[in-house]
Amino acid sequence: MQTKKINIAVDGFSSCGKSTIAKGLAKELGYTYIDSGAMYRAIALFAYRNGWMTDTEINESELKKHISEIEISFQANADGQQETYLNGENVEKEIRSLRIGNAASRVSTLGFVRKELVRQQQAMGKKKGVVMDGRDIGTVVFPDAELKIFLTASPEIRAQRRFNELQAKGISVSYEDTLANVRERDQRDTTRAESPLRKADDAIELDNSYITIEEQLQWAMNLMHDV
Ligand code: C5P
Repeated sequence: MQTKKINIAVDGFSSCGKSTIAKGLAKELGYTYIDSGAMYRAIALFAYRNGWMTDTEINESELKKHISEIEISFQANADGQQETYLNGENVEKEIRSLRIGNAASRVSTLGFVRKELVRQQQAMGKKKGVVMDGRDIGTVVFPDAELKIFLTASPEIRAQRRFNELQAKGISVSYEDTLANVRERDQRDTTRAESPLRKADDAIELDNSYITIEEQLQWAMNLMHDV
């Protein structure tokens, strides 16, 4: 197994367990886990709060003008779970709603938003030892990542997982709305002009519809032996 630290890219559709495998790998390897989706969610929240975004529109010029005022960081809570901070404020719970998830997928189509976040993400990976999950990590953020994983699972299974997760967090939502949200984001993520979701040519694909979290982590750890 590789002893020198590497960067690991985990990409795939919404709610297909990217963060589970990425966090598991980071824990096993003593690496830093970075949730790039949380960064798009934080930008969406910032835009909503300032009135530059509604459920139907985005005021691109205002958002662009203020994009450099947005500082996103991560800090572990008392249970060791990483939480997202927007300009120093813990916004972890707020950014996890379906509304902000959908809004994140909308702001992520904007070139200037992607450019700024990719810059911040590349800086975070400079020293290696990072596991980052998202949509464009293997293709744009870390095209030279030594290990690239691409996860897939059926939309129905992903919606059920997201639904269970939201229920557990006390966020009230129906399964039907969750499935519609998954499909809408898939459509937008794969068809947008800026860095659409696609598997990097050198990524290794796993359909995790019918395997357990432990099996999935074992599969990924085995890949480390070949790096
Ligand atoms: O992964 P998560 O569902 O939290 O991401 C929220 C949204 O941010 C996604 O629907 C996707 O459109 C966008 N995103 C992206 N590029 C990334 C990570 C997330 O475009 N690297």
